[in-house]
Amino acid sequence: MTTDLAQLLQRTVGVLTVDMEGERAKYECLRPGCPHPLEGPVCSTDTDKNRKRRGRAWVASFVERARDYHVSQYHGSNR
Ligand SMILES: [Zn+2]
Repeated sequence: MTTDLAQLLQRTVGVLTVDMEGERAKYECLRPGCPHPLEGPVCSTDTDKNRKRRGRAWVASFVERARDYHVSQYHGSNR
């Protein structure tokens, strides 16, 4: 986790935070002038439009996609 975070910080100017149980996650962008500096937080107890709990898979998919989504959405394509 610590190593992953360090690698993440090297790749981009943002911080992805996940709690120990994988129940909650958020992505904070630290780029100056970012129009949308916080993605999430998301939680496994969030519900979808059918009011079903999204569960940990939802949190995990957020963790996987948040940075790329944010960068492409607010900072142009940056691959
Ligand atoms: Zn940003």
